[in-house]
Amino acid sequence: MSRKVAVVTGGNKGIGLAVVRGLCRRFDGDVFLTARDAARGEAAVEQLRQLGLNVKFHQLDICSDESLNVFKKYLEENYNGLDVLVNNAAIAFKIKDSTPFAVQAKETIYTNYTRLAATCRALFPLLRPHARVVNLSSSSGHLSRIPGEQIRAQLSSPSLTEEALTELIQSFVRAAEEGTHFKKGWSDSAYEVSKNGVSALTFIQQREFDKDPQQDIVVNAVHPGWVRTDMSSHSGPLTPEQGAEAPLFCALLPPNVSAPRGAYIWWDKQIVDW
Ligand code: NDP
Repeated sequence: MSRKVAVVTGGNKGIGLAVVRGLCRRFDGDVFLTARDAARGEAAVEQLRQLGLNVKFHQLDICSDESLNVFKKYLEENYNGLDVLVNNAAIAFKIKDSTPFAVQAKETIYTNYTRLAATCRALFPLLRPHARVVNLSSSSGHLSRIPGEQIRAQLSSPSLTEEALTELIQSFVRAAEEGTHFKKGWSDSAYEVSKNGVSALTFIQQREFDKDPQQDIVVNAVHPGWVRTDMSSHSGPLTPEQGAEAPLFCALLPPNVSAPRGAYIWWDKQIVDW
């Protein structure tokens, strides 16, 4: 069998970079820092190499099918599999940003939900037995952030499919364009809707993995805590290293673990009721 391999999206800074650093120290295999911008990615790799860590780099813009396909082919040819996937890449508009809400909704949903799901669809066929997938959600991805009872019921339905979830999330984008999203029961934060999409998708993905229990593939949604990064404008109590702890815990779960498995985990590694 080929050497084991771990991949982190958006690994050039913040929590993603700290997860890469932790995997370099704790994961028994090759670790890929990926970044949409090759120069920023290479600079981050250089930082880690200065620490004496053995890290590999590949360009990956999760919003580009071409970039995703090139990386998938690279993994296929060089590893013929994938053991750890940390879906960390995401965007968040600043509160003061004057971009129209409809545009913020479209772009935030696209990167954080639509393209995270596309990354999974592209790379999941490579997952080997005992693979671990970590989807970076947020406390903003807690179901209580969605005011509408009916939407909450749809999001948390145990029979929800990925197709139906995607249609539901797209209906938020359309409602945001019409200015009716809040009246229809959605949050006024596109980021909260995107991260609720990530949480709901995680539970669907685990249900799919569980159809073949021998494979023992586990996916969890993680709230890393409030972490001092560019996204949080360097506010918050946790360092990126502290924010990386729960994602690393989920990435390194031992074979045949019973929990967490298809769960919503917070920064202190506790399972939180969604
Ligand atoms: P940062 O903004 O510091 O880093 C985000 C990373 O995602 C960057 O590397 C960025 O690349 C990358 N990225 C964005 N779009 C793409 C794309 N299309 N393709 C590839 N990479 C992309 O965020 P954090 O480190 O704070 O956040 C990491 C994760 O944790 C996110 O999912 C976030 O939502 C979540 N989170 C963070 C919290 C916090 O308090 N910081 C709290 C809760 C959740 P580039 O440098 O090129 O822009």
